[in-house]
Amino acid sequence: MNSICLIEDEQKVASFIRKGLEEHGYDVAAAENGMEGKKLLGSKKFDVVIMDIMLPDINGIELCRSIRTNDTETPILMLTALNQVHDKVSGLKAGADDYLVKPFHFSELLARLEALMRRNKGKEDDHLLVFEDLKLDSWTKTAERSSKKIALTAKEYTLLELFMRNPNKILSREYIAEQVWEIGFDTGTNFIDVYVNYLRKKIEKDFKSKLIHTVIGMGYILKHDGK
Ligand code: CA
Repeated sequence: MNSICLIEDEQKVASFIRKGLEEHGYDVAAAENGMEGKKLLGSKKFDVVIMDIMLPDINGIELCRSIRTNDTETPILMLTALNQVHDKVSGLKAGADDYLVKPFHFSELLARLEALMRRNKGKEDDHLLVFEDLKLDSWTKTAERSSKKIALTAKEYTLLELFMRNPNKILSREYIAEQVWEIGFDTGTNFIDVYVNYLRKKIEKDFKSKLIHTVIGMGYILKHDGK
């Protein structure tokens, strides 16, 4: 369930937002001022922060800046009153990701929230390369196929990363040698084939389909195993 931290001192606005979000399956934790908001944010990780600029104890822009000193990731949506629209620039500069002018329709708030979460999700997944049921994680340097973890050596990892960054493309032995070993390919050796076979054993042996295919006279290709 997506969790929202709502920092808003106006009771009416706060309950309008909370009610709407809960109806749409969100988990909402609310704070009525900046201090409470900070405490809430320190207690767990939220998917999005919605906060008002005019808070009783601290200016929302200050609060936003302070949140950003130790959390650069959680998207922040600022709420501003119509006569404070000039604050939106300061808000965005302070690290907010979007703003909404009060009064607003709930559907607009929902659309903005969903867009912010999609954007953030994309960022989180940046380190994952995916091809069919195979995943490669550039943070942990490990592969996973059909949820089964596969340990790789450094060279196997680099080789697989090259294939996964170039799916459905024939990679010649010359190209693989340059990219993975940073050397020119010597036709007298077969170490590329040896490594490709090590890799195949790890990512194909216990699974139903092949991923890396040999293209005779050309090289190798990562593609769907169309039988
Ligand atoms: Ca307010």
